[in-house]
Amino acid sequence: MGLGSTRKTVLVTGAAGFVGSHLVDRLLAEGFEVVGLDNLMTGDLGNLATAMADPHFHFEIGDVRETLKVYAQVIFNFACPASPVHYQSDPYATLTTSVLGALRLVEHARLRRCRIVHASTSEVYGDPSEHPQHESYWGHVNPIGERACYDEGKRAAETVLRDAVRTHGADARIVRIFNTYGPRMAFNDGRVVSNFLMQVIEGKPITLYGTGEQTRSFCYVSDLVEGVVRAARADTLETPMNLGNPREFTMRGLARTVMDVAGREVELVFRPLPADDPKRRCPDISRARAQLGFDPVVPLEEGLRRTHANFTERLAVARPPERTQP
Ligand code: UDP
Repeated sequence: MGLGSTRKTVLVTGAAGFVGSHLVDRLLAEGFEVVGLDNLMTGDLGNLATAMADPHFHFEIGDVRETLKVYAQVIFNFACPASPVHYQSDPYATLTTSVLGALRLVEHARLRRCRIVHASTSEVYGDPSEHPQHESYWGHVNPIGERACYDEGKRAAETVLRDAVRTHGADARIVRIFNTYGPRMAFNDGRVVSNFLMQVIEGKPITLYGTGEQTRSFCYVSDLVEGVVRAARADTLETPMNLGNPREFTMRGLARTVMDVAGREVELVFRPLPADDPKRRCPDISRARAQLGFDPVVPLEEGLRRTHANFTERLAVARPPERTQP
């Protein structure tokens, strides 16, 4: 995927989403002609404000479940709602976006011989019984639970892509993305980082689900995008490949760090743990380290500081302070 004398075209599906939009910015900075596709189910055009001003970016409203009309050498498939609140709000759309989207992409790539980099997820491991999660672990997923539309959809999409590799030599790469955070996260996506930041900014109690002792590992979005771009560039790649930050935190620990970063103490309140909520999650990234030299560099405190600053700025625009009458 090196740059030649003419610009290469890449397609990002889910371009208006949180990760998709950061990927678009990075690919534009690298000198690609970038086509962004999004059906705006959960994406936000505001995320593409910088990209829209670039003549090498081309946005299309469209759905990955329908036939693609774009030619691109590389397709980054980032189209799918990814936060539990969003993906559970329309489970059928979530499942079909993953599965039909993968089928459409495979058909498209077969005819045009393009490379696919597909965003899968740590959710394919479900509530894992192995720790940390290595790519060889098959997972522990409830096929009829509230998370199944996402987990099983992403698992089936992996099946579609791997069968395409096996049966007709498709160049399809699967990256399993672990919890990622950063500027542009939706305020209302119900995810732990956005919830805690909003609660602290608004001086409301932080909501810990369960005991708050469950763990996650949080990857700053620029680190994640670096891994995705390296995965696209590699001549050959053994996938699926975990991408994430292997530092593991309890949700209680995260709450403490968010308050430190924001410089504000709020109360902690406990709420019931959602169904099928994984108790521990942490990637084994030895494969990405060995094959891509991937190693996240942004510490949680620094990433949260940048995200907090971005939330504060966006909130100031969304809710300008009331003017006093002259
Ligand atoms: N969580 C929490 N309080 C919140 C939101 C989430 O304690 O306000 C917990 C949630 O139960 C889970 C973890 O934080 O254990 C991460 O949740 P998130 O929805 O961000 O992502 P997941 O990794 O579960 O998809």
